[in-house]
This record gives sequence, C-alpha cells and structure tokens, in this order.
Amino acid sequence: MKSKITVALAGNPNSGKTTIFNNLTGARQHVGNYPGVTVERKEGRCRHDGVELELVDLPGTYSLTAYSAEEVVARNFIIEQKPDVVVDIIDASNLERNLYLAVQIMELGVPLVLVFNMSDQARARGYRFDLEKLSRFFGARIVETIGHKGQGMDRLLDAIIATARQSGTFSSGAKTGQDRLTARSSIRGPLPAGSQINYGREIEEELGRLTSLVQQNGFPRAKFNPRWLALKLLEDDKEIKSMVKSPEIQAQIYRSQARIEKRTGENPETAIAGRRYGFISGACQEAVRSTIEIRHTVSDKIDTLMTNRILGLPVFLGLMYLVFYLTFTIGGPPMDWIDIFFGWLGTTVASWWPAGSQSILKSLLVDGVIGGVGGVIVFLPNILLLFLAIAILEDTGYMARAAFIMDRLMHKIGLHGKSFIPMLIGFGCSVPAIMATRTLENRRDRLVTMLVVPLMSCGARLPIYALIIPAFFPRSWHAPMLWIIYMIGIILAVGAAKLLRTTILKGESIPFVMELPPYRMPTVKSVLLHMWERGWLYLRKAGTVILGISIVLWAMTNFPGLPENEHARFQQQRQAIGAQYKADEQKAAALLAAIDNREAEAALENSLAGRIGRLMEPLLKPMGFDWKIGTALIGAFAAKEVFVAQLGIVYAVGEADQESDSLREKLQDNYSPLVGFCIMLFCLVSTPCMATIAVTRRESNSWKWALFQLVGLTALAWVLTTTVYLGGRLLGLG
Ligand code: GDP
Ligand code: MG
Repeated sequence: MKSKITVALAGNPNSGKTTIFNNLTGARQHVGNYPGVTVERKEGRCRHDGVELELVDLPGTYSLTAYSAEEVVARNFIIEQKPDVVVDIIDASNLERNLYLAVQIMELGVPLVLVFNMSDQARARGYRFDLEKLSRFFGARIVETIGHKGQGMDRLLDAIIATARQSGTFSSGAKTGQDRLTARSSIRGPLPAGSQINYGREIEEELGRLTSLVQQNGFPRAKFNPRWLALKLLEDDKEIKSMVKSPEIQAQIYRSQARIEKRTGENPETAIAGRRYGFISGACQEAVRSTIEIRHTVSDKIDTLMTNRILGLPVFLGLMYLVFYLTFTIGGPPMDWIDIFFGWLGTTVASWWPAGSQSILKSLLVDGVIGGVGGVIVFLPNILLLFLAIAILEDTGYMARAAFIMDRLMHKIGLHGKSFIPMLIGFGCSVPAIMATRTLENRRDRLVTMLVVPLMSCGARLPIYALIIPAFFPRSWHAPMLWIIYMIGIILAVGAAKLLRTTILKGESIPFVMELPPYRMPTVKSVLLHMWERGWLYLRKAGTVILGISIVLWAMTNFPGLPENEHARFQQQRQAIGAQYKADEQKAAALLAAIDNREAEAALENSLAGRIGRLMEPLLKPMGFDWKIGTALIGAFAAKEVFVAQLGIVYAVGEADQESDSLREKLQDNYSPLVGFCIMLFCLVSTPCMATIAVTRRESNSWKWALFQLVGLTALAWVLTTTVYLGGRLLGLG
C-alpha cells in the first residue's frame, strides 16, 4: 500500500492535456525528455484532501499502437511504471474520435478516469451526455471539465483518489473523496469492471486460442495482460511481436491472421480497429444526444480564409514573418542590454586587478566564466519571445493549420509541415530553432529537423560574410554573393533531410491524421507558463554544458601562454617606447597598442589552439586554409562571431579595427577570392557552435546525436570546401 498516488495523463493532442496538467500542478512541475528518446516528459505534484499526487503528462497520441515513439512511450509507461490511475483527457466536442484512445487504455485493464474536457464546446454544439451509462460502458469514472477556466478540477481529483482507492493500490487519508462525487461526476458507488469489447466470432475465436497459448508459454513479460497481448499480436504490433520467441506462438499468429483475413475479408489490423470503432459508435448512440446541428461554426468561417488555397500561404508567411520579427527584432534591444551588462561586469571584475595584470584568475573569470555565461544568457530574450509566439500559435489552434498548409511541401523532403517553423527560426539562431522542434510530435521528424537546422545560415555568421565579401568581391557582387551563401545552406538542408530520412532515420511515414482543432482564445497563464518553462529549461540545462565548454576553449587559447623570456622582450620594447616618445603621447599609445597586439598574436600562436591550428594544417591545406584560419575556426566553435575577432588577433590588428579596412586588406594580401569563398562556405556548413551542440545534446537526449551533428556537418563542410577549392584551382580561379 502506497501513500502517494501516481497519475498518468493521456489524451489526444489538443484535447487540453497541458492546460489541465498546469491547472493541477501549478508551477510545481519539471520538464525533460523520456530516457533515450526525444519525447517530451513533464512531471508535477499536487495535494488534495491530504493526499499526495504525482502526475506525469504522457505524450499526446491518437492511439496506443507502435506507430510512433510517442505511442510506444505512452504505452510502456502505463505498462511498466504501473501508475495507480490513468487519466484520459478527451475533447468532448469531438467525442467519438477521442474515445478510440480511451478504448485502448481500457483494454490494458488499468484503473482509468475519463475527463470530458471542452465540455463548454460540447454543450455549445448541442451534445448531451449520459455520463452514468458511458461510465458503465468504459468501466471508468467520468468527469466533465472546462480546462481553461479551471472548472471541474476538484471533482477530477476526487475521482482520481476514489479510483485509486477502489483499485486497492492505495489507502490513506480521510474517506471523503467518495462521498463528494457530485451529480456532474458519473458514478457514486463502486464501479463495475470495465467492459470487454466483443470482437465478433471470427476474431474472438483466434483471440481465445492465442490468449491461452500466451498464458501457457509464460510470456517473457508477465506484466502484460494476456488478452491484450494476444490482441496486439493479431494486430501485428512490431514491439510486442519482437518479444515473442516461441516458434509455436509465432506459427499460431500467422495461422490466426490468415484465418481472420479469409473469414472477414479484411486484414486483422483493420478488422480489429473497425470493431473498436463499432463499440464506440454503439456506446455513443446509446448515451449521447445531439440537440442542435451546427454546420458552419465560427472556426469554419475563419478557416475558409486561413487554409484557403490562394490566401492561405501569404497569411502563413505573413504570420511567420511576425514570429521572426518578434523573436529577433524585438529581441535585439534586450540582447544588447544583456551584452552591455556582461561587458560592464567583465570590466568591473577586471578592475579588481591592477591594470595590465596577467593574472590567470582574472582571465578565467572575465573571459572564461563571465564571457561564457554571458554568451548563454544573451539568447534568453530570443528564446522567451519565440516561445511566446509559438505558444500563442499553438494554443489558438493556428499551428495545426500552418502544418496543414506547409505539409505537402515539407513532405517532399520527408519532413512534417511543422518542421518549417524551426527551419525558419534557424536563420536567426540555431539554438531557439532546435528548441522549437519540440512542437514536432514525431521523434524522427524532430531529430532530422534538429540535425539539419544549423545549415540554415544563422545571424551570427553574418559578421563573417560581412568581413569576407567586401574584402574579395566587387560591390555589384555583394548582394548576390550573400544570397548564394544562404541558398547553399537551404539546398544542403533539404538534401541532408532527405538523405537522413531515407537512410538512418528511415521509417514508414505515419498515417497523417491531421484534425483541425477549433480556434480558441489562448489564456495568458498558459502562454506565459509555456514561455517560462522553455526559458528555464534552456538556462539550466544548456547553461551548464556551455559554461564547461567555454572554460575549456578559454584554456585552449590561453595556455601555455608566452614563455617568460618572450614576455620580457615585449616588456622591454614597451619601456623603450615609453622613453623615446615621452613628448608624443598619441604616437606612444598607438605603438604600444601595436605591441600588445603582437604579443597577443605570439601568445595565441604558442597556445594549445594555435598548436592545434598548426597540427590541423594538413587537413586545412586542401581547402586553401592556413593555420591562422584554423585557429580562428576553433574560436568560431565558441560562437561564430568569435571568428572575426580571432582573425583580428592573428593578423595583429587592433580590436577596434576588426571590421575596418585594415583586416580586409591583410586578408586580400594573404588569400585569393577563392579562399575567401571557401572560408564562408566552411563556416556556413561546418561545426555548429557549442551552444547548438549543447542544445542538440539536451533535446535529443543523447551525446550520440550531438556528436553525429558535429562530426557529420564538419565532414560535409570539409568535403564540399575541398571540392570547391580544388575545382576552383583547376579552373584557374585561385
Ligand atoms: P494539449 O495539446 O492536449 O496539451 O492541449 P492544450 O492544453 O495545449 O489546450 C489546447 C487549447 O485548448 C488551449 O488554447 C486551451 O486554452 C484550450 N482549452 C483547454 N481546455 C479547454 C476547455 O475546456 N474549453 C475550451 N473552450 N478550451 C479549452
Ligand atoms: Mg500539450
């Protein structure tokens, strides 16, 4: 007997699961992924009548087959974690379709509570439910709720506790729950056992045979209910079938399936699904009355515009432009403030040491920690605004339309319509873009999108192009060049997605049931909670990894530093200048700055990063790069913008001049336009920055995919750049 009730929340997408979960748990929740898969997992707690409840939000699914990772996750959670109660959130205005999931949970034989959410809309459409009857059909208590108004939550909690008590896994606290079940909740007394669907003679016969065989042969996992197992085997469920080792059972499955097919004229899977729908529609005919027939609801009217063949796309693109604008333009000023704040903090901390001090601790704090943390937090405004926009789009129901509009196009490259949004956000920054893949419910789609998003040229790469393009190309070529670079990124992303979808992330594309939920007014609370959840997730999880990597990168560019005697030599030069130009302070300052730069250059060359740059030369040569570019590329891993600053250092130009002509002149002197183009190409394709890798690691829940992205993109970049460089040389361009 336990003193805590564990509750799993299941339901179709858009049935109001998240709303109810948030109502029940408030801020006491925790977001992550299910172990090993890219499927979101949310947990939270609440108390009711002195009883502690632990809630888990299962992924939204239409069914519990093994079509998608989500369905398998939801099903395995119910079977393996054995929650005390499963709550199925149902959109009561769309009852028949939603009950399909309920039937499958019922068949698992677990204690079940059905929530008829959206009961306001069901009423508006004229539905009246005989809850008492329905709850007898499904063997479950039924509670009507209006999620976004928080109505029915107490009754829901009462029903959960009563169900847990009755199933016997739980006992404690006062016995008030039972008595308080009011007239709007379906059942007062103890529940009848859940009914069993009768699949008809043809199927039942085979089901009986398989069930007893499964029972005799001691199926590997005793936790499954034998009838359910047999049903899954007949349905050809891959997951369950792979657990069957006994050749006797395998042969029986085959025979039974053939017999069902022959006798019903349908394949067993279709036949079984058909019987389930039959059960549901029978139950609804008995217990649901529809008083009015509303054909053209407001939603339908809006949809004639939103999903219109001609106008749909421009409306969609306009809204996407708004999202982009909100994220990056409105997000710009707060980003600057954060930048300024961390700049100020760095200067303040640096001032604790005497000017010109070479203290390691100072450098670690200022460049490593403050620089690194600042580099993480600076994205926060982007992420918050982006998720604000996405939460609004999702909660109003527009996201489903967007997916619907883009779906045909995205399907051509093997992705879901919803992948479009992360890819678009990728032009701003890969980090929020990868987080935006959370809107994708299918794991494969989400992974593929996540992996190719860095190919959309992000804003941080723009300074690199802004440095290189004017240095090597005539003015009339500036705009076309930039356009070409962006197009290369898009084409590569499309190609890579297609490739991944047909190789390592292959999978039958899931039958695409896209129901367009009615438009709804989002609530401020739900939208803000969504936004905050993502922001916090980003800060806490990605923050730790990024901080670690930035300290490592800091160490690589700072150690082992200059040998003492070299440092002394620069020091002597400084003193000499001080003595020589006593009168001309301006001149002295300029010369001193030049010496500082030369020292920084020498130190960088001697540092680990510099040495690695030299070591990498054999790899860099075929692309036309030298070790100096190599060092800058290592810096670019911290953040793409660092590339420019790092080149400035290796070419010993004052920090203030980075973007000015002097660095461009040096580049012109040292490299050909072909190399310039190759630099841009390599920066576009290769090594996403560390924040991207950290976020991919988080979101995919595995280092494997993060490293695959890192190595894969870098290898692709190398091959492409080498080909372009060598090809260009052959054509006499370099
Ligand atoms: P989920 O996909 O199942 O997590 O669904 P959400 O919780 O995100 O809800 C989708 C939308 O339905 C949101 O805009 C909610 O505010 C809205 N919503 C939730 N419950 C109700 C309800 O009972 N009635 C109405 N009219 N809207 C609701
Ligand atoms: Mg949700």
